Amino acid sequence: MKYISRIDHIPQLTESDKAAMRLVEERYVFRATDYYLKLIDWDDPRDPIRQLILPRIEELNDWGRLDASDESANTVGQGIQHKYPDTALLLCNEVCGGYCRYCFRKRLFMDGNDEVSKDVSAGIAYIAAHPEISNVLLTGGDPLIMSTRRLSEIIAALRRIPHVRVIRLGSKMPAFNPARILDDDALLEMLALHSTADKRIYLMAHFDHPRELTDTALRALDRLTRSGVILTNQCPIIRGVNDDAAVLSELFRRLSWIGCTPYYLFQGRPTSGNDPYRVPIVEGWYLFQAALSWGAGLARRARFVMSHASGKIEILMVDDAHIHLRYHRAKNPAHSGRLLVCERDDEACWLDELKVLKTLPMRGPAPSASPRYQRPAGRGAPLRPAA
Ligand code: SF4
Repeated sequence: MKYISRIDHIPQLTESDKAAMRLVEERYVFRATDYYLKLIDWDDPRDPIRQLILPRIEELNDWGRLDASDESANTVGQGIQHKYPDTALLLCNEVCGGYCRYCFRKRLFMDGNDEVSKDVSAGIAYIAAHPEISNVLLTGGDPLIMSTRRLSEIIAALRRIPHVRVIRLGSKMPAFNPARILDDDALLEMLALHSTADKRIYLMAHFDHPRELTDTALRALDRLTRSGVILTNQCPIIRGVNDDAAVLSELFRRLSWIGCTPYYLFQGRPTSGNDPYRVPIVEGWYLFQAALSWGAGLARRARFVMSHASGKIEILMVDDAHIHLRYHRAKNPAHSGRLLVCERDDEACWLDELKVLKTLPMRGPAPSASPRYQRPAGRGAPLRPAA
């Protein structure tokens, strides 16, 4: 398996294709594996795998901004983000197996960006000092690009912190390079050691299209499962890749068959370079609903959400006049569960483009009013059942 980081090294492309892509490559880097490029149907210029990995000239359109959901505002130290009380993100690597053209973190791959830290000791110390953090997501970049030795040191350090229960690995390596998992017994042994009966490791996989679920990818996922890792999948809705209810439905159904729960379908963030990949909220919601309707219960578990600066917002429903949203997670805990009724706008791609007509608090009594719950010490610590 080889990594390919120059468009010029792809013989199937014409000279005019390469000339256009080189212009894009100067701004937004290209990287793929030879394994992944073999999934492309080179006879089809609209092939979804091709759209996902090869640059398009429209990426240079003036649209969006590099940090579209203000991750910088959640950065509490180099390489660590803390937005919701119970979850911290450790940005421990700035390289991926391939670079998805629609990536919302493409700023990390640009020269001069210093948001990622190879030395995670400050991030680990921050997590240790915050007992409300029960979930840590290793991300970047892709944590499975790191050597097993380095990953193992980070996971072992997290396992020494008693309040960290769930460790998540956000990874597209099962799609880009499943051999990374299949050929490394030490990696699987290390994951088995640290994914215990009471504290699991989750792999937050990133499959966007059912054609990525090759036999090799499935074998890699199977080995992860047999090592005690829990699998879930999250991906955005992407123009030209999975903006088709039949494709999404097949993706969700096949993921459910192999024990990789469809978790989130993301509305694409308005990130610079992503103009050709955007799908409006209303169109995305209809595609999502159609896709769910063709699957059994286990294939219907994804939520369609927008990772907005103010929180994770679920797109609940669209009617003739409105778009109904709900804060699934809110940066401001007072907004948790809040409903937003917005004027329907079939072109809008993000909350900031919508007119909010009404906000409604979460229905029912707040849990804090119940003597059955207590709030432990710690910044924004979640309520717990009273002892
Ligand atoms: S794997 Fe994730 S972080 Fe890496 S390029 Fe793709 S979307 Fe971005």
